[in-house]
Amino acid sequence: MALKVFSSLAGVPLHYDRYPEESGLGYGTRGKPFKPRATYEMVQTLEECFSALFQISPFGKAEVITSAGAYVSKPGQHGKGQAFDLDGIFWEDKKLVAIEYPRNPHLYLAVESVIRQYFGTVLGYNYNSAHKDHFHFDMGSAVRFEKMSKSRVEYLQAAMLYIHGFQVGIDGVWGPETMEVSSSVLESLGIKGGLSAKKNWLDFLEKSAVLGFSLADGQ
Ligand SMILES: [Zn+2]
Repeated sequence: MALKVFSSLAGVPLHYDRYPEESGLGYGTRGKPFKPRATYEMVQTLEECFSALFQISPFGKAEVITSAGAYVSKPGQHGKGQAFDLDGIFWEDKKLVAIEYPRNPHLYLAVESVIRQYFGTVLGYNYNSAHKDHFHFDMGSAVRFEKMSKSRVEYLQAAMLYIHGFQVGIDGVWGPETMEVSSSVLESLGIKGGLSAKKNWLDFLEKSAVLGFSLADGQ
């Protein structure tokens, strides 16, 4: 497996923020520069993802991206060099720290809406306690909506609630309520047909990203 070393994404320096808290470089800080590794394909996809993110973000390009790492010698997608853990994004006057999701849902979900356009598997705050403090994303599944995917349904429900302003519970289960509310949300966005069509999923993600960022900008 050929791994590429990288130290920035879309021109923004990558920092590691998992040093001991006493160092002042612990979780939630800007950390300090590091050089994770991932496959060439993964690095290319990360580049595209973060370029798109900084293009649509009303705050422009960030100053620092914090991460807990990419390739790690262990089973799963990290061991294949196809996974990335995102802790935070620091702009000049704005920051996203993943664990602050409950206080910052618009920005969190705007960023997630971009990540999901490039990565099929995205695990975050709502998924389980292990992912409360970072986004894990990898290339292990295709970019598409799946009704049986807990993480995808949770994201959809959270986006409908926080970004689109529709009342819906967040439980990761595709049930009658979620189905009904999602039809209304898609209709309000002018998206014809269901989310199983990839183009509709991408359309929903793009519109949610733009709206999420504009709500975050107003805060
Ligand atoms: Zn991970």
